[in-house]
Amino acid sequence: MIPPIASRFVAGESPAEALDHVRRLNERDVKAILNLLGEHYDERGPVADDAAEYRQLVDDIAGSGLEASVSVKPSQLGLDLGEDVFRSELSDIVDAAADRGVFVWIDMEDHTTTDATLDAFEDVAREHDGGVGVCVQANLRRTRADVERLADVPGKVRFVKGAYDPPADVAYADAERIDREYRDLLEYAFEHYDGGIAVGSHDPEMIDYAKGLHERFGTGFEIQMLMGVREDAQYELAEEYAVWQYVPYGGRWKSYFYRRVTEGSKNLRFAIRAVLSS
Ligand code: FAD
Repeated sequence: MIPPIASRFVAGESPAEALDHVRRLNERDVKAILNLLGEHYDERGPVADDAAEYRQLVDDIAGSGLEASVSVKPSQLGLDLGEDVFRSELSDIVDAAADRGVFVWIDMEDHTTTDATLDAFEDVAREHDGGVGVCVQANLRRTRADVERLADVPGKVRFVKGAYDPPADVAYADAERIDREYRDLLEYAFEHYDGGIAVGSHDPEMIDYAKGLHERFGTGFEIQMLMGVREDAQYELAEEYAVWQYVPYGGRWKSYFYRRVTEGSKNLRFAIRAVLSS
């Protein structure tokens, strides 16, 4: 059972608890992106289990009438075991989701996985003519070229600053530089994409910048934020824009929760240690 202190960031251990959270969000006009927590599996068992749970989840979403999509991690679907394993599991999930009209996002992990992730995304997006989206990271030097490549691929693109810590030869480390890249990437997308732009950021400056680009180019976009982070802003933005909350759930919640907290207040960290060691 998830302790109350962690339930700010994680919707529960079971799909039923996650869907209850989605119901409450939808009542306030916020849509949901459900993520079953799990990554870097080095055995087939957990890969198959999580893939099966995602296929069941898209069924449950479709049957519930809720406004929700799912987001998967390549290493959760077996990328560490081989690109073929990842592609095969991804393809089965997207096939099931496409049949039921549920959108599938692919999270972006560390820079060594970018090629495999974008290649798999492009193939599956072309095969289904959309219905799937991928994340790109503004801190990577390569991303401008990737964003140009993705302009004529059907589907959506989520723009984030990047949660990993890549080496200096492949990434910018300076926060101001990353912000500048983020703005430039958004500008390119609003000018050249037909829509399908997702602003995955809590940063009010980036969101304001996207609003301005929307005014200028008329291109459609959505805002995505994490569960437990700036939720009041999410509800307020949802009065005017499409807002999607990224909702993690599942038994493997401890390390995710710790990551969220180490980004937040130091005081909270002490409380968290107690929870994690319990
Ligand atoms: P930051 O640059 O961290 O902060 C800028 C400003 O935003 C702060 O000064 C503050 O004003 C505001 N802010 C930020 N956090 C908070 C907070 N906790 N409380 C209050 N205000 C805050 N990364 C990946 O590498 N791959 C992914 O697939 C991926 N998917 C994501 C999906 C979603 C929906 C989101 C929201 C993020 C995702 N990320 C992903 C993480 C992302 O790369 C960033 O690490 C993370 O969002 C922090 O950057 P930021 O733009 O939100 O703001």
